[in-house]
Amino acid sequence: MSSIITRVILPGLGPVCPECFSRGDIAALPLSPKEVYSFGVTQPEAQLDWDVDEARVLIAARPRTAQRLDPNWLESWLAERTSITPEHLDHIPADKLEEPGILVEIMGCPPGGEPEPFRILIDGTHRAARKLRDRQAYWAFLLTEEEQRSICTYRLEGQVSELSSFPGPGITDREAGVFLSFASESDVA
Ligand SMILES: [Zn+2]
Repeated sequence: MSSIITRVILPGLGPVCPECFSRGDIAALPLSPKEVYSFGVTQPEAQLDWDVDEARVLIAARPRTAQRLDPNWLESWLAERTSITPEHLDHIPADKLEEPGILVEIMGCPPGGEPEPFRILIDGTHRAARKLRDRQAYWAFLLTEEEQRSICTYRLEGQVSELSSFPGPGITDREAGVFLSFASESDVA
């Protein structure tokens, strides 16, 4: 989650970690905000908002294999596309640290170029950063094309719009590693 807030100072409590604050982890101030991941693009000016709570519901309804994130991809993702609060990395509860992140794939089109798949980590940024710092592997669940569209609000120049579609099916159940109840051993490639 990108945030420009670097310090939250609460009356009577003093400075608190903005990441803990936003997660409702400050015991004196319980809040459970809806979790949304926003991603902005330019040319055209657009914003994509994924409902992370809904993403978790979809994953719970259709269990799947978590995919190991490529450390090189993760390193550049974290450096170029996110803002991490370093002090928060040691605040992540131990039982939360092992929870896989959530990935979506959209088609990105560089100016004058061909559309190409582009992956976005919509949940687990700080867990991933902690794992990378500690040189440990990190996993994430990948949503299918249908799933990510169903929880995405796309705004083009401020107006809610249809996400433009590109040829091809996008991420399928198979690519997302969704367990199919009728799959037999021989179906596993
Ligand atoms: Zn924190």
